[in-house]
Amino acid sequence: MSPTPLEHRIKALIRLDGPLRIADYMAIVLGDPEHGYYMAREVIGASGDFVTAPEVSQMFGELVGLWAVDTWMRIGRPDPFLLVELGPGRGTLMADALRAARIRTDFLSAARLHLVETSPRLRARQKETLRAAPIAPEWLDRVEDLPEGPAIVVANEFFDALPIAQYVRTGGEWRERVVGLSDAGDLAFGLGLAVLPPPAVPPAARSAPEGSILEIGAAADAVMETVAARLVRSGGALLAIDYGTTRTAVGDSVQAVRAHAPVDPLARPGEADLTAHVDFEALGRAARRVGAAVHAPLEQGDFLLKLGLAERAGRLGADKDLATRERITGEVARLVAPEEMGTLFKVMAVTAPGVVPAPWSA
Ligand code: SAH
Repeated sequence: MSPTPLEHRIKALIRLDGPLRIADYMAIVLGDPEHGYYMAREVIGASGDFVTAPEVSQMFGELVGLWAVDTWMRIGRPDPFLLVELGPGRGTLMADALRAARIRTDFLSAARLHLVETSPRLRARQKETLRAAPIAPEWLDRVEDLPEGPAIVVANEFFDALPIAQYVRTGGEWRERVVGLSDAGDLAFGLGLAVLPPPAVPPAARSAPEGSILEIGAAADAVMETVAARLVRSGGALLAIDYGTTRTAVGDSVQAVRAHAPVDPLARPGEADLTAHVDFEALGRAARRVGAAVHAPLEQGDFLLKLGLAERAGRLGADKDLATRERITGEVARLVAPEEMGTLFKVMAVTAPGVVPAPWSA
């Protein structure tokens, strides 16, 4: 097989400038304007490389939509307010959320829909999915570009797509992990010269053994700080759903997935999804730094059941045939079962101080 266009480019970059930081490797593989993973391929869905919760079941987006309506009422029904999704993929979650939100027409008429999305291909896809939606979206590249005002922000499998840096415990220090070239000219992991300054080492990693890998999601932390700061300034809430850990832990979580199966993250760059587990403790720290309230991560299964997933499934299947009811039961299982998405995925909310969203309010 001939090398991918990105493999050529990355090798040329390394020959010219030396090894790449893992964060830079991820940023190129995912975001290169021409050949980046999210730019060039149909990535999400049964025919793509991975399936996300909104693609598993319409009930996921519907419950998120009802959560948004409920949160909007808790923050005093601001009109207008920004309804924001970060990394909307195919637009499925938002389409389902807006359909469920029709129960409150005042919510819909107050909402100004903003989608933060870098991929032109996925933007086109979102436009198509949301063609019949009750409100029209506006697209932005970055959270920094969102207009001021109270905001309800949702992000499903967004933070995991942002580049992370990796450091390897070596001789008592944390040396940055890089992608360079092997003697045979293949892409290979190695150790760079940069050292993580000791104050930046999270407490959980301080006594890690030699050879341990520590991940720092600086890009995710920066997005969180920006969003949390605006929530503190103007009011609102963020719901972040992703796979990851409640507490910072050492370990290499970078994974590449193609056609629903794991592949080598350095093989055929641009053709496989590349993600890292989200460190919710670090995201929470970033939000607290700017004065926001953090509502501790719940497991996705727990969150969805508390929001009424079982009841919704019952209603959806009530007048349906057996095959449809079985399909709905299967969808519930995929979303909540511990061996599926139920426990690996976590849900965390960040709000302006004084706001407590469901289901944290119990
Ligand atoms: N939320 C969707 C898609 C998840 S895939 C779902 O659940 O199905 C990640 C999404 O984030 C894609 O839409 C991708 O194009 C987008 N994305 C990745 N990096 C981004 C960045 N830096 N800024 C904005 N969007 C980004």
